[in-house]
Amino acid sequence: MLTQAILPGTTVSGQQTTLGVMGGGQLGRMFVHAAQRMGYFTAVLDPDPASPAGLVSHFHVQADYLDEQALAQMMQRCAAITTEFENVPSGAMFTLGAHRPVAPSAQSLAIAQDRIREKAHFKACGVPTAPYAVISDAQELADVGDGLLPGILKTARLGYDGKGQVRVRDRAELVAAWAQLKSVPCVLERQLDLRAECSVLLARGWDGAMVSYPVQRNLHRDGILAMTEVFDENLAPALAEAAQQAARAIAEELQYVGVLCVEFFVVAQDGAEVLVVNEIAPRPHNSGHYTLDACDESQFDLQVRTLAGLPLSPPRQHSPAVMLNLLGDLWFDAPGHPGGDAPHTPDWSAVLALPGAHLHLYGKLRASRGRKMGHLTITAATVAQVRATARQAAELLGLALA
Ligand code: ATP
Ligand code: MG
Repeated sequence: MLTQAILPGTTVSGQQTTLGVMGGGQLGRMFVHAAQRMGYFTAVLDPDPASPAGLVSHFHVQADYLDEQALAQMMQRCAAITTEFENVPSGAMFTLGAHRPVAPSAQSLAIAQDRIREKAHFKACGVPTAPYAVISDAQELADVGDGLLPGILKTARLGYDGKGQVRVRDRAELVAAWAQLKSVPCVLERQLDLRAECSVLLARGWDGAMVSYPVQRNLHRDGILAMTEVFDENLAPALAEAAQQAARAIAEELQYVGVLCVEFFVVAQDGAEVLVVNEIAPRPHNSGHYTLDACDESQFDLQVRTLAGLPLSPPRQHSPAVMLNLLGDLWFDAPGHPGGDAPHTPDWSAVLALPGAHLHLYGKLRASRGRKMGHLTITAATVAQVRATARQAAELLGLALA
């Protein structure tokens, strides 16, 4: 719990006020940038000596997330601590939370880390999900109804970017897939015919105040986010409103503190389009990266504000935006690659010549296929312009947009 706002700058005892983040990936890096811009010092805990956030933070504690000494160092340095990935061991967050304000709470993380608990939470909030069954033993596997096939078998824990998921057409494939996933607890979801995907990002403070961004429309490819579009009419207004309300209900029920992303599917039902909730991310989200360039406050600014107990005012999007993810594949496949198996830096100068192109690279030392290396946000004055420029950028990079 936070009783008093943590203000940036030097304290009376001559120390720099420091905010901490568990995890040193790109989300941590962008949190660090936002915190530093506001005048905080930052500390990152991540075992990787070359982690994107560790490279730009004042302090980098290089250790395992459960290392007691490392946790003690974080507590000693930091006035409050957040996380940039949901799979930080909840034990570490419980330890930190006993001594320092931690947001989101270990309880919220524990729910987001486990698809079974997460789905039960959605049910408690009255927000529909895809039809699903829990499979944690052979009996539950045998009991699965035919209505869930074809389906997607997802491990209850530790999945991301489509990892830990297997698509299954029939019972035989389901049995094989569960064995392939080492018979760990899973959920089987019916494979839905998706009309669209969208997400809502919100921030909720210690006092329960909540603000949110407009609904993001997302395109995934092979289970990984490829593109996010945010502008008026990217989604039918009734669906957008329903997504906002569902996201707020989910955050409220969790008594959530911090930035939360709620992912939804749009599916057809009885001739109409309806929403079902997919999952939550208890942190800033890839679909919110456009906020850095298209809004007066980014999702990372709001993460800093919620953590430090600073006031939240509703963020305003000032430009239509399209965000394109830059995966490591580009280092091998982009037009202009000299050929061969060696990675080659894409020609950024061509895309940077486009008006309203904002390039973000995360400082990762090695490109590999499927790895998130950076993103490109396009902003423009009108929806037609932003779409046209995004198409040009995609063409220059050899990215497919449909
Ligand atoms: P991330 O953490 O990157 O969001 P994840 O590994 O947690 O990914 P999900 O969000 O569960 O994975 O699924 C990834 C993508 O796979 C979804 O965005 C969607 O495109 C597709 N998908 C997942 N579940 C279903 C489903 N039940 N029916 C149809 N498509 C689905
Ligand atoms: Mg997802």
